[in-house]
Amino acid sequence: MSECIFCKIIDGSIPSAKIYEDDHVYAFMDIMPLTKGHTLIIPKNHKENIYDLSEEEASNLFKVVPKIASVLKESFGPVGMNLLNNNGAPAGQSVFHFHLHFIPRYDQTDGFR
Ligand code: 5GP
Ligand code: ZN
Repeated sequence: MSECIFCKIIDGSIPSAKIYEDDHVYAFMDIMPLTKGHTLIIPKNHKENIYDLSEEEASNLFKVVPKIASVLKESFGPVGMNLLNNNGAPAGQSVFHFHLHFIPRYDQTDGFR
């Protein structure tokens, strides 16, 4: 069985708050949100980082980015949104299953820089 936290989230052995799911990707709330509504999207196939993603996997992820951003905008009412992706420990990656962060932004004092 995989030791990857995000693979366990996909197989349901670790619970998560789902935002979106299809055959290829899963999106869920970050457990330690940087701002209200902080969400992650991941490929269902375990891929460590952006260098391991096929074009098809990247396409499957990025084609639902506008939809998820819209859901977060409607649900939480941010006035802006950062998309963020960390690759490798020096870049801040702490879970080694590719993920893209959606960080809704509210104002200059919402705690995220
Ligand atoms: P990274 O630093 O790798 O770019 O981001 C990893 C993110 O995964 C962090 O924001 C962290 O809070 C989140 N995270 C780590 N473990 C879990 C978990 O078990 N559940 C959820 N929902 N998020 C997690
Ligand atoms: Zn994984």
